[in-house]
Amino acid sequence: MNRDKSAKAFEASREVLPGGVNSPVRAFRAVGGEPIFVEKGQGAWIEDVDGNRYVDYVCSWGPLILGHAHPDVVKALRDRIGLGTSFGIPTELETRLARKVISAVPSMERVRFVNSGTEATMSAVRVARGYTGRSKLIKFEGCYHGHVDALLVKAGSGAATFGSPDSPGIPPEVTGETMILPYNDLGAFESAMDAHGGEVAAVLLEPVAGNMGLVPPAEGFLAGLRERTAQSGSLLIFDEVITGFRVGLGGAQERFGILPDLTCLGKILGGGLPVGAFGGREEIMRVLSPEGPVYQAGTLAGNPLAMQSGLATLGRIEAPGFYDTLNEKAGQFIQALEGEAHEAEGAIRVQSIGSMFTVFFRSDPVVDFGTASGCDLDRFGAFHRAMLSQGVYWPPSQFETCFVSEAHGEEEFARTLEAARKAFQASIP
Ligand SMILES: *Cc1c(COP(=O)(O)O)cnc(C)c1O
Repeated sequence: MNRDKSAKAFEASREVLPGGVNSPVRAFRAVGGEPIFVEKGQGAWIEDVDGNRYVDYVCSWGPLILGHAHPDVVKALRDRIGLGTSFGIPTELETRLARKVISAVPSMERVRFVNSGTEATMSAVRVARGYTGRSKLIKFEGCYHGHVDALLVKAGSGAATFGSPDSPGIPPEVTGETMILPYNDLGAFESAMDAHGGEVAAVLLEPVAGNMGLVPPAEGFLAGLRERTAQSGSLLIFDEVITGFRVGLGGAQERFGILPDLTCLGKILGGGLPVGAFGGREEIMRVLSPEGPVYQAGTLAGNPLAMQSGLATLGRIEAPGFYDTLNEKAGQFIQALEGEAHEAEGAIRVQSIGSMFTVFFRSDPVVDFGTASGCDLDRFGAFHRAMLSQGVYWPPSQFETCFVSEAHGEEEFARTLEAARKAFQASIP
């Protein structure tokens, strides 16, 4: 497979963009080799600048549940774009999309649109602090909530300590109010709440973790968080930027029957255009400016093209049976992939929920960041390179989730399984 044009494009981009990219994981540093530069996408496929085609399991990191360039989304954008692209004045599109979000996501009564998932979590945390009058946060190791200063935290020494910055440029005072705990460990959470519960504004998590690879919540974990936060007057925030409209129309909260106080959305909500949102009970959201004192704003928030793309996407996924069909075909494919992994020598396990999954190079279950860290990253790198050279675009990191879209079908799955058979072999040292 010739990738000369991608190599040249990468050389050129490195002259003007730090690392040649606008988001670090795109640089392929975790898997070796160099990124492909994409020319276009259609359905489940992307084509690079050299004309190579790949079955895409990244799907823009989750948003493209309908696949690339879905006709409904393309038409909605075409219909709208000639009418003006941004006003900074209310449009009815915002109300229409808000109604769809509120009717889909069980705990949301009011919603505010922003431009990214990062903005959604940043603003939800501010609302939680403003509403409770408290400042401490609890987050879980391995959950990613965008690049918000207070949430880019790594564990300090010992259990249940306050975290330290996970990046230079973040003052320790900013992360000093954020406690970081192991995911799926209700005992550690209860101890932290025993010590600090009355000071905790919010407990924030991915209800299904997708940013350390796919890690489902342990039985009783979400219910335990819900019960204790309700007792202590802390808000429970579900970061459903990935899981929202992915594990079902109502997200993880609907699937597991646990309602958070605030929810963060992004990714699928914009159908491939930049959209985020946060929201929750009316009584909480009322603190937000201009109704209340908590300030938050955005020049391009509720952008008409972005709203239109979200409306087209949600319009399709809210059709009866959409998730049954998607999850069933994804489930069959994932089972076959597990079969291939089983045939291959050595430790590989596949974890999944619905149309999201991760192939971990490890034999024991991945339940938290510690177990995820135990994966064989060299093998993953070799697997990734072997998949890419056979025309399958896998996320370029072990700690990411693969996505199946509505556009993936028999042809794509067959090709992927054949490639995976060889790539599992190629990953053996
Ligand atoms: C992607 C992601 C974010 C950040 O969203 P951006 O749009 O990249 O800022 C936040 N939380 C979770 C769970 C995500 O997966």
